[in-house]
Amino acid sequence: MEFSEKALVLKVGRFREIDAWVRLFSPVRGLYTAFAFGGMKSRRRFLGCLDAFNHVRFKVRRSGYRGYHCLTEAKLLDAPRVLRTEPARLGMAVNCLKFFEAVPLGPQGTAEAYALLRAMLAALETEPATPSPLFPLLFRARMAFLHGMLPGCARCAACGAPLAGEGAVCHVEAGRIVCPDCRNGLDGGVRQPLGSGALALFDAAVAKDPGHWAACRPEPAAAREFSRTVDLLVRYHMGLAWEQGGFVRA
Ligand SMILES: [Zn+2]
Repeated sequence: MEFSEKALVLKVGRFREIDAWVRLFSPVRGLYTAFAFGGMKSRRRFLGCLDAFNHVRFKVRRSGYRGYHCLTEAKLLDAPRVLRTEPARLGMAVNCLKFFEAVPLGPQGTAEAYALLRAMLAALETEPATPSPLFPLLFRARMAFLHGMLPGCARCAACGAPLAGEGAVCHVEAGRIVCPDCRNGLDGGVRQPLGSGALALFDAAVAKDPGHWAACRPEPAAAREFSRTVDLLVRYHMGLAWEQGGFVRA
């Protein structure tokens, strides 16, 4: 069986002398690994395609016998340049992809996740100034939202009142944000205070695109509240913490 589809290259590795394995994400199949036999030697066949962050149209043969995927042709659609030459941008892109791979979405979220990854890379490539250091945190919050946490950031999860002013809290174990009137009605557990600046960041994570994240310049206090809350939510609900360049099971 052979098919043709566009996919994002997430990672490339070498095996044996001249062969490569490629970690791909496609809007149809989601995350999968394919082999590019001769991929490290016959660069011409995959001309400039086998690098992380590339957007490529691949021809893929699926072996019925062992069930593995094998790349037979590639056409480069789009490759970031700025992203690869600036360590700050590159670091953020790697961080987002590592998180994405650690908590992949199920089949029903694949097309949306694909669009998000493309938008994430485009924002880091095209933002004129250095992208906001909060960018990876906003990405993680969006992923948490796509995984069904943080059902709403604009309204109190208990009474439905708009969350506008100060005094809201995030109940970490419940993954809910509530207004000042409802905060005392919660059972115990970790309650993270969120001022209006941090609430605006949660709203941006859920409702705005990565281009907006790259340009955001919040107050330091709001950035701290937001970062701490996202870290706690990710640790509690997804069991992950960022340590020494990778996500580890917390
Ligand atoms: Zn309320």
